[in-house]
Amino acid sequence: MQAIFYDRARDLADAVRLGQQPGARYIAGGTNLLDLMKGDVEHAQRLVDVSRVGLDAINELPDGGLRIGATARNSDTANHRLVRQRYPLLSQALLSGASGQLRNMATTGGNLLQRTRCPYFTDTAFNQCNKRLPGSGCGAREGYHRMHAIVGASPACIAVNPSDMNVALAALDAVVLVAGADGERRIPIMEFHRLPGDTPQQDTILRPGELITAVELPPSKFARNSYYLKVRDRASYAFALVSVAAALELDGKVVKQARVALGGVAHKPWRAAAAEAMLVGKPLSDGVSREVALRLLEGAQPLPENQFKIEMAQRAVVRALRIAGDSA
Ligand code: SF4
Repeated sequence: MQAIFYDRARDLADAVRLGQQPGARYIAGGTNLLDLMKGDVEHAQRLVDVSRVGLDAINELPDGGLRIGATARNSDTANHRLVRQRYPLLSQALLSGASGQLRNMATTGGNLLQRTRCPYFTDTAFNQCNKRLPGSGCGAREGYHRMHAIVGASPACIAVNPSDMNVALAALDAVVLVAGADGERRIPIMEFHRLPGDTPQQDTILRPGELITAVELPPSKFARNSYYLKVRDRASYAFALVSVAAALELDGKVVKQARVALGGVAHKPWRAAAAEAMLVGKPLSDGVSREVALRLLEGAQPLPENQFKIEMAQRAVVRALRIAGDSA
């Protein structure tokens, strides 16, 4: 039996200090980390509980943006008045994930750090997984890979990021705030998660001992025309085969600004500025939307069992943009 030490942090400074200890991991809701520890996948030696250090507030920023604390519960965020009014896309994404019970425990920080659901990673009966056992190989490449990545993957890993919230945050240009021994930093969401490359064991660019303190959303012009579409095997409590966070700013029927982020297709939320630019200055149409989807998926390298995701993603982009355009 392995002893696990537990520290309850008093405040942020205490949390960061405790988090510098060897083998320490931060914990709040525990809906992902504890599961993986019970499954012998994660091996934290010391848990630093940050659920009572005052990081759960959701506040309006002076510029009209929103700051969501790292330990704000997903259910509180999804149902917050300002989130529903100004960022309905985020509310929809959160409510499409997990179950009511899990959303009552899961937090913003935990969602950002949620680990892949690749079965070769979560089941220690498999002995090939570069993410869990670096250098052991990738069992999914030659095995079961129906749920896996079609873009941005590497020979070492084809896992996908499982979070719905991350896809919406990507479309909304969120910034992740972190604190560590060297101070605080602000990380744009598209830089926060990594592609797998040769080191798939690292999901994010967080440094050891750094703690997520909040996520900030800039003022949104997308509240009237946005939509989160999740395509999955069953209607609830299932991870996305493909998801789309679509957000538009319209001037009449003409697109002034667009954001299109894909989930379920890569190791991180997937966006391409060049694809979004194709919508600007034009009336929204299914034809243009399909061109956007093709550009987003340029260079895709599906495997035999997930080839279907190419067409599925294209159709999902067209449908999500159509609904976003009609949702005012
Ligand atoms: Fe492991 Fe990644 Fe391969 Fe899955 S896809 S078996 S997580 S290396």
